[in-house]
Amino acid sequence: MDDPRIVIIGAGPTGLGAGYRLNELGYDDWVILEASDRVGGLATSFTSENGFTYDVGGHVMFSHYPYYDDLVERLMGDEYTTLNREAWVWMEDRFIPYPFQNNIGGLEPQTVFDCVTGAVRARYEASGAAPANFREWVLATMGDGIAKHFMLPYNFKVWATPPELMNYVWIGERVAVVDVEDLLRNVLFEKPETQWGPNSTFKYPLRGGTGFLYEGMRKYVEHRLELSTPVASVDPVAKVVTTADGRRWPYDVLLNTMPLTKLVDSMTSGVPGVVRDAAGDLVWSGSHIVGIGVDRPALSSKNWIYFPEPDVPFYRVTYLSNYSPYLTPRPDQTIFLTETSRSRYKPEDPATIVERVVDGLQATGLMEESDRDLIADRWLCSPDMSYPVPSVGRDAALGTIQPWLRSHDIWSRGRFGGWLYEIGNMDHSAMQGVEFVNAVLRGEPETVWIPRGEGEAGAGIR
Ligand SMILES: Cc1cc2nc3c(=O)[nH]c(=O)nc-3n(C[C@H](O)[C@H](O)[C@H](O)COP(=O)(O)OP(=O)(O)OC[C@H]3O[C@@H](n4cnc5c(N)ncnc54)[C@H](O)[C@@H]3O)c2cc1C
Repeated sequence: MDDPRIVIIGAGPTGLGAGYRLNELGYDDWVILEASDRVGGLATSFTSENGFTYDVGGHVMFSHYPYYDDLVERLMGDEYTTLNREAWVWMEDRFIPYPFQNNIGGLEPQTVFDCVTGAVRARYEASGAAPANFREWVLATMGDGIAKHFMLPYNFKVWATPPELMNYVWIGERVAVVDVEDLLRNVLFEKPETQWGPNSTFKYPLRGGTGFLYEGMRKYVEHRLELSTPVASVDPVAKVVTTADGRRWPYDVLLNTMPLTKLVDSMTSGVPGVVRDAAGDLVWSGSHIVGIGVDRPALSSKNWIYFPEPDVPFYRVTYLSNYSPYLTPRPDQTIFLTETSRSRYKPEDPATIVERVVDGLQATGLMEESDRDLIADRWLCSPDMSYPVPSVGRDAALGTIQPWLRSHDIWSRGRFGGWLYEIGNMDHSAMQGVEFVNAVLRGEPETVWIPRGEGEAGAGIR
């Protein structure tokens, strides 16, 4: 297809990545339709009336792609800080370095015993059978001690989904797998192991939070950007998007970045029952992101802390003010940015969440009783969809939905457009937008996207 008319739904990192690349290639026939009055999607930052800047949960930027690195460098210039990850776990009334499974030596003797014996049993009693779900994977690879004391309670707090309903294909570099020798070395020689994983150093914008990056992309797409223009329906047969204001946007190729479930719901005609049923199988969780601004210095160099225990609502607290002194009105103030998940499996009352978070900050010693009088700002943001859950049925569902969409010239990409948590970070998302353009206009293969269905890759349009 020569010179296709391209319509993009959503101006989060994925839609912006596509728009940026289209602009870079000097291509003319495209538009971005964005429901909100701002760009950035879940990677937006908000500054409260009191002058505190918050992200929608702790956002750490670490990239796997040279194109994205160059883009970030261009957008940030000198306006960034570089941080060494200082991540901790709070349990049994103490801090231990993250990841938990490499640093159990500091815990209660009974916990250490459970974790070590469980890991040894798991190693020597391995059956070789493939686990059926995430719960079985945790038990088989880490043992029942680590499962009981950390992995199962912590993951339920993050995903708000029972682990037996989740798959484990997303794990890759996201979870440190247990090595029994390392475990024993840590316990016997008390040698903490902190430099695990892909994001041990990271950059953060000096001003404006994570959203600064995506605000910076706006100027490259402004001339083709329609803000406050929610998509109301998509007709995959006539190939027309209709927005809530009644305007119609015909397309040859559609890039969708709104949640896949909502895309399928919005379709007016021609959707097979199996595709609708498959969309009904997708699972997600939402959040209450609570930010607390306190009128005193942070008194800690920590970046963030994980909370596996059920007595506090949040699973993670970020000392956001340690990322940059410009996120608070004065540099001697503190931001605690907390994340609490929610779902039908784990309801969380929005009316009480802010006070429960403050109680939790105090119960875990991050705040003193006297700090309550120093609270200068309270911020709540409650996205309905924040984690696309890698559920047991996810890949079969995607394998039904995505090839059908592609056969109608619809590419659905990004965190909820693609519904693949393992490629759902900012760098993955922006690159999926860039590679969509390269594929459609230049016939280049996508490298970030992971097809889950027959005919999905290569069903492409030139
Ligand atoms: C709690 C949390 C923590 C995270 N931490 C990290 C991290 O540490 N590192 C990292 O790299 N990433 C992190 N992320 C992920 C990051 O936010 C996403 O990768 C990124 O925002 C995905 O971009 P996207 O464009 O695919 O989707 P989104 O950001 O969801 O953007 C989709 C856009 O579509 C728009 N839209 C929706 N419906 C419609 C409609 N009907 N019509 C028009 N527009 C519509 C939305 O308004 C939105 O702007 C985190 C996310 C969350 C929620």
